[in-house]
Formats: sequence, structure tokens, C-alpha cells
Amino acid sequence: VVLVSPRFQAPKGTRDLLPPATAVWAAVEDTARRVFARYGFHEIRTPIFEDTELFVRGVGASSDVVGKEMYTFEDKGGRSLTLRPESTAPVVRAYVEHGMRSWPQPVKLYYIGPQFRHERPQKGRYREFRQIGVELLGKAGPEADVEVILVLVRFLTELGLEPEVRLNTVGDEASRTTFRAALVSHLRPVADRLSEDSRRRLDTNPLRILDTKSPEERELLRDAPRLDDHLSEESRRHFSAVQEHLRAFDVRFTIDPTLVRGLDYYTHTVFEVSASGLGAQDAICGGGAYDQLVAELGGPPTYGVGFAIGQDRLVDVLPPGSAARRGTVAPVVVVALKTIPGKEGDRGVSPVFALLEQMRREGIAAIEGPSRKERLFEFAEREGAPAIVFLAEDELARGEISVREMATRITHTMARERLFPDLKSSSFLPSSPLEVKR
Ligand code: AMP
Repeated sequence: VVLVSPRFQAPKGTRDLLPPATAVWAAVEDTARRVFARYGFHEIRTPIFEDTELFVRGVGASSDVVGKEMYTFEDKGGRSLTLRPESTAPVVRAYVEHGMRSWPQPVKLYYIGPQFRHERPQKGRYREFRQIGVELLGKAGPEADVEVILVLVRFLTELGLEPEVRLNTVGDEASRTTFRAALVSHLRPVADRLSEDSRRRLDTNPLRILDTKSPEERELLRDAPRLDDHLSEESRRHFSAVQEHLRAFDVRFTIDPTLVRGLDYYTHTVFEVSASGLGAQDAICGGGAYDQLVAELGGPPTYGVGFAIGQDRLVDVLPPGSAARRGTVAPVVVVALKTIPGKEGDRGVSPVFALLEQMRREGIAAIEGPSRKERLFEFAEREGAPAIVFLAEDELARGEISVREMATRITHTMARERLFPDLKSSSFLPSSPLEVKR
């Protein structure tokens, strides 16, 4: 308990992730790596900061992220740099810079890491937050969109969630141009009834007005032109193929015509996944396709599609019983019942210390517990230990050792040389880090 307010605190909108929560974060990342690899995605790590221009070009000057939320600074060389507010533009930059267009296509990448946006902090919204995302580049068409949605749904399902995807299409460039014009001529005459933000968007990014949460504006939009009336034949075919495939794979989804997403680069399919229990900030994932971005950033015309999951929010909504919620490897606890003279360690190493190291060399996670019994059980419970190994002088003298299985509360006494084989074959040791009983 901190009684005096400390001299230094983590900056507003940032936070320390501490144990035991970090074990849950790591388990989520392990699951992501495992599932993504199964679908053929490889990890990419891009810099935490990039040229500011990359985001202005890539994310779009009219987006809130670029217009209001970037951490931009000048370095000592006078360059304008920005802490990345998202990772699609950096990944696409890397794709172009490293000539990945000449690799076998599609190139399938994933990333895990912090992003920075200067937003007003609230529950589920941070200035430094973490995203887990994938990008699939160099394969066009509905199947690319569907594969990305499938890997997303599989990942969330393996975390114990039951994701429902909200889906829409924002059409191709041609559809958007005609729709944009129709929307602007509908809203221009009533511009004085729009919020200041929306009035500005009328000139910069009219599609974003559809995103509004204000009831008056929603009313104004009720008989506004609809994007789906302006879809090109090609966009329409694309979107219905996506839906058909998703049905074929039994993916739960709903169509949400108001879904337009905040970043400017999307074309064709866009999607979001929300989770209950998060309040206003309930979106855990957003994604979509983009067929102009690679060219916009100087590469050859290339179709891309991806998503970004907010890991902070994801960790908050993991179901209580899920494997990831229980975290990673839980150690066996070793404890000495009585002080034992250094028998195993003739060179002055205490027997507890010696046994701990032997266990760790055998691949068994092990830590020392407090020697007072009441404290010990509480400790083992808190650590999620599957077992406690007791070192007692009299037993050791008979060549025996005792192991208490936490789940059943049964203590087995066994021959000392049986300890490692039994521990390793026994059901109370985790066969995989995610199967630890807690
Ligand atoms: P976006 O990159 O805006 O499409 O956001 C994708 C996901 O990242 C969202 O659905 C959120 O889960 C998460 N996210 C975005 N901004 C924040 C933030 N400021 N704090 C926490 N999570 C965020």
C-alpha cells in the first residue's frame, strides 16, 4: 500500500502491467502466435516511431488519429517523427521498402506491440495501448478478406470468446466517389444542424459522418443516401461472396450498414468485433481491406486486408475459466520442512536450493515456498502451483520424499528417485503451459 503519493508516476494514459496479470498477457500472445502460425502468418516487428508523413499519407490527414491524436516530435536532426498510432501503415511501408511484392504472394504478417494515441483516457482507452494485428498482402478478392476474418474468429474462439463479427462494405474507389457526392448534396442543405465535427467532415471525410453517435444527426441521416445503393457491380459481387463464404464456414456475423471505421484507407469489406462488459469502449477489434494503400505508399497496386485487436480490452473480457486467463506455467513449490544440513550439497549449497535447480534442469518450473504451513498453502494457491514438494530430514534419510497434489489435496510419499519421473508423468504437472489447473 502506497501511503504517500509517489514522486513519479507512469504518464497519464499509460500503465505498468504487473504480475500476475502479465502471465495472462503472455498467454494471449502465445495463443495468437500459435493460431496465426497455423494459418501461415509470420511475425513482423517494425519501429515504434516512423516518419510523420507515413501516417499522414497512409492513415489519412482527415482521420481523427492523424488530425488530433498523434505523438509527433522533432528529433535532433530536425526530422518530424511520430510514435506509431497504428501498425498497418508501417507494415505496408516495410512491404514496399523490402520489395516483398517479389516474395511468394500473399505475404502474411502479424505484429504484437504498443501503439500511441493522444486520446482522453477512460476505461478501456489508453494513450499507450497494445494491439495484436495481421495483414495479408498481395492476394485480392473475397477469399483474402474471409481468410483474415477466419484467423480472427479462430483466435478469439481459442481464447474462450464467442465472437460475432459486424460486417459492412465501404465499396471500391468508384462506389465511394459517387456515394460521397450523393451524401454531401444531401447533407449540405442541413449543414447548420450538424455538429462542428461533422460540418468539418463534410469537406474532409463525409463518410465518417455516418459514424455519428448523436441522436439528432442520426435523425438527419435517416433518409440520407445509402452506400449500398451506390455500390459498383464489382463491389456488390465482392461483398456477397464474402458473406457466402463466411456462412459456409459457420462464422457468426451481422451486417451493419453504419459501420465505416475511423481510418481512411479502407475499401471493400470492413468489420468490427465488440465484446459486452466493456461499456462505451466495447470494440475489441477493427479491420478491413485496402486496395489503394500500398500504391499510396509508393508500391505497386496491391490488395491488402487486415485487422487490429486491442489487447488491453481483450485481456479484460477473457472469460474467467479460459486457459489464457489462468496464465502461463505455474511452478511446483518446493519447501523444506525442517532445516536440513547440507547433505545434497557438500559444497555448502542448501538442499532446497539444490533440488530447485535440479528440477529446473529437468524442465520443471519450481520455486521455494515459505516454511510455515498455513502460509505455504496460501502461497502455493496464489502461485497456481499444481504441487508442493516437501523436503523433510527424516524422509530423506529413508530415501523418500513427499509431494502434495494441490487439486486433490492428497500427499504422496515416494522413493526419492521416483520424484522426477512421477512429477513429469503425473496429471498434476502441466503437459502444456496452458493446461495448468488453477
Ligand atoms: P483501430 O486501430 O482504431 O482500428 O482500433 C482497433 C482496436 O484497437 C480497437 O477496436 C480497440 O480495441 C483498440 N484501441 C484503439 N484505440 C485504443 C485506445 N486508445 N486504447 C485502448 N485500445 C484501443
